[in-house]
Amino acid sequence: MTRLLISIGLIAWLSPLHSHEPFSLITLKVRAHLVQSATNPRLQTTLTERGIRAAFEEVNAIWSPAGIRFELEAVASLRALDLAPKRWFIKDRDWVKSAIPTNQFSPTAIDVCFVKDMGPNGFFYGEPVVVCENPEFHKVSGGTDNVVARVTAHELGHVLFLQHRQERTNLMASGKNGVSLNEQEIKDARRRALEILGQMPQP
Ligand SMILES: [Zn+2]
Repeated sequence: MTRLLISIGLIAWLSPLHSHEPFSLITLKVRAHLVQSATNPRLQTTLTERGIRAAFEEVNAIWSPAGIRFELEAVASLRALDLAPKRWFIKDRDWVKSAIPTNQFSPTAIDVCFVKDMGPNGFFYGEPVVVCENPEFHKVSGGTDNVVARVTAHELGHVLFLQHRQERTNLMASGKNGVSLNEQEIKDARRRALEILGQMPQP
């Protein structure tokens, strides 16, 4: 018995993959934009700075197993451009993106814009990240109740080059509220986060 325990202890000590391995915290800056629009109510978020800060506490809890932290450098209002209402042949995400001016974007942070109502729950295909405050999703076990945080954390996963996954409880599953990350995703996300840090001009 003692010999068996010693062997198990030795394997755990030798294994480079054991899960308690400490790794350095990577911090990425984020600028949150509360989109405002007098002409297109769908764009006008009802979220407040307080709500955004609470959502980012949850985002950081979700990303903590990866040792990645998203630090809010600012939360500010952003007036949308006065676009004509969306036409049926235009994709919702394209219309929303075209209504968001880029002149208040941060040169040193990931820009995340919050809108009230949108077809997809969120999107990222080059800056900015856009998050809908009323996302539609299916609940899964262990999922978060803060759905704005979940969509934000998921889109930030795309910023870190993570792809969609089929596993229901995974953060990168579409339309679910799961928050788990697997070891490969943690490795890939950390590698990309370090690349982003290297590319961003320092303030
Ligand atoms: Zn996605």
